[in-house]
Amino acid sequence: MALKYSSKINKIRSFAFWLIFGGIGVMYIGLLFKETAWLMALFMILGMGFVGLSTVVYFWIGMLSTRTVQIVCPSCEKPTKMLGRVDACMHCDQPLTMDKTLEGKEFDEKYNSKRYKKNTQEQS
Ligand SMILES: [Zn+2]
Repeated sequence: MALKYSSKINKIRSFAFWLIFGGIGVMYIGLLFKETAWLMALFMILGMGFVGLSTVVYFWIGMLSTRTVQIVCPSCEKPTKMLGRVDACMHCDQPLTMDKTLEGKEFDEKYNSKRYKKNTQEQS
């Protein structure tokens, strides 16, 4: 089974998109309960919460974008942004790494975790 990987920023972006979508959906459900004021209010607040949260996520993407490294993908030769030690190309999902020691190894999200970094530091 091939490992399907997509860029972190793309992933967060689609998460934020679905959060807005979900929020609107929840608010719409609220409209179905017009007769029950408290229930409608509950759904409205919940929906607004989702939309608010996605605004936070979009803001977070903006913050993360300042920490990304702009590189040219070796596979599709388009400029892409990398976040962390390992990430995938935003255009073709080609796994990329900043760390020479990880080159050629199987792509794994664990290379970004703090624990893994600590372990490799102890070994060297
Ligand atoms: Zn690419």
